Amino acid sequence: MYYCKSCKITFEEPKRFSEDRSPYGEKGGGSFVEYYDGCPICSGGFEEVYLCEECGEYKESVEYYPFANEYMCDDCYEKMMEDGELVENQIEEVINNDVGRGLPNEEREEI
Ligand SMILES: [Zn+2]
Ligand SMILES: [Zn+2]
Repeated sequence: MYYCKSCKITFEEPKRFSEDRSPYGEKGGGSFVEYYDGCPICSGGFEEVYLCEECGEYKESVEYYPFANEYMCDDCYEKMMEDGELVENQIEEVINNDVGRGLPNEEREEI
């Protein structure tokens, strides 16, 4: 997904715009059309963003955390870490189980 800071919207594909930059007057001729990708609303710049499965928001960067089995942004990860030792124990548990006999209580989500 992509995010436009000006419009504060996310969109799946940037729109391709074309701009005629042909010089005024005939100086050796030919038209020069420049193509560029921009926000579908304002045609401005955008940045690529990724869905954080924890907070459901689009962030500039997310990472996959096996212990949570989801993609998370830094904020959510930090929040989880701040929530205490429980999480750290869970991480160890998952890692141990991962090596041995697979994840405990594996939840199967339909995508
Ligand atoms: Zn925009
Ligand atoms: Zn998040």
